[in-house]
Amino acid sequence: MIAAENTRREESAKMHDFAHDPEAERWNYRPEAPVALNPLFHWPPRPMAVLRWYRGAWLTLGSLSLCFAMAVAVYLWVMPPLSEMREFAPGWMITVWLMNVVPQCLVAGSLHWWLYIRRGQGMRKKFDKRDLTRKNGSFTFRNQVLDNIWWTLGSAMSVATLYQWGIFWAMANGYAPGISFDSAPIWFVLWMLLIPMWSSLHFYWVHRLEHHPRLYRHVHAVHHRNVNVGPWSGISNHWYENLFYFTTYFIHLVVASHPLHLLYHVYFQQLSPVLSHSGFEKLIARDREAMRAGDFFHQLHHRYFECNYGTSEIPFDRWFGTFHDGSAEATARTRAHKTQMYTR
Ligand SMILES: [Zn+2]
Ligand SMILES: [Zn+2]
Repeated sequence: MIAAENTRREESAKMHDFAHDPEAERWNYRPEAPVALNPLFHWPPRPMAVLRWYRGAWLTLGSLSLCFAMAVAVYLWVMPPLSEMREFAPGWMITVWLMNVVPQCLVAGSLHWWLYIRRGQGMRKKFDKRDLTRKNGSFTFRNQVLDNIWWTLGSAMSVATLYQWGIFWAMANGYAPGISFDSAPIWFVLWMLLIPMWSSLHFYWVHRLEHHPRLYRHVHAVHHRNVNVGPWSGISNHWYENLFYFTTYFIHLVVASHPLHLLYHVYFQQLSPVLSHSGFEKLIARDREAMRAGDFFHQLHHRYFECNYGTSEIPFDRWFGTFHDGSAEATARTRAHKTQMYTR
């Protein structure tokens, strides 16, 4: 236990040597400590660190708590009852589409407004030095924000809605295994807690596949136009990428779920990338840190491409040697890996 605590102290005390990092000039702000990974997979076990990690994730204002609150609110006040979904009909199907589009516009729109139009916190906690791109032919409509809005609302929302129509219909007709809180309270809570982990596992493998040089060039490059990301970049993906990315929802066709599980999964999959791609580590209001936002782990993926394919939730990247912790050595290793990938 004492040894574990010491390891933790040693790790958190480890700071990057930015003075000798040739990349230092490219960042406006970056965390000084190495990027943290979920301590659940650390050996020897560090129970207190695990507790802190999950307490921070669920009980403070961040993407998990925001997405869960959104799921509960939509379930209580907006979602049509399953009994209405037994047959495909325009009424409930349009409502489901709105359940996707309206929260997306609210969260991405308000974050974009606060950070990039009102510039409410200036450059504080902003990773990249640059502003979002305009008049650049690599983006649809020659404008990064319009490009991202199109791929999000046009492509991502359509595919996500299509899959949800199918799953809700299957749930309503008993083709998908269902549960209620009363019938299985422990599984109900446990499955809710496991959804981010399932999402992370699925994301790693789909994302890894998309970085195959051929698939990357034709499909995933749409998302990677955004080296300097903003809130609308979160799920700004090519049609084919969305067809893969949202298959994560199909787990509810085999694992016993309640509609609230699907809704939480939906918002976690669609809204948390808005925060993680916001480009700012924290949201600041009235000179106080109001909420965690950007994810430096994924910001590094957008800058150096061939690293951090997963998330910090399951450390696949550490296991498979593609983890970038923000250090100069990791940048050099990533560049070597990229060269090797594209010269084979
Ligand atoms: Zn990628
Ligand atoms: Zn991304």
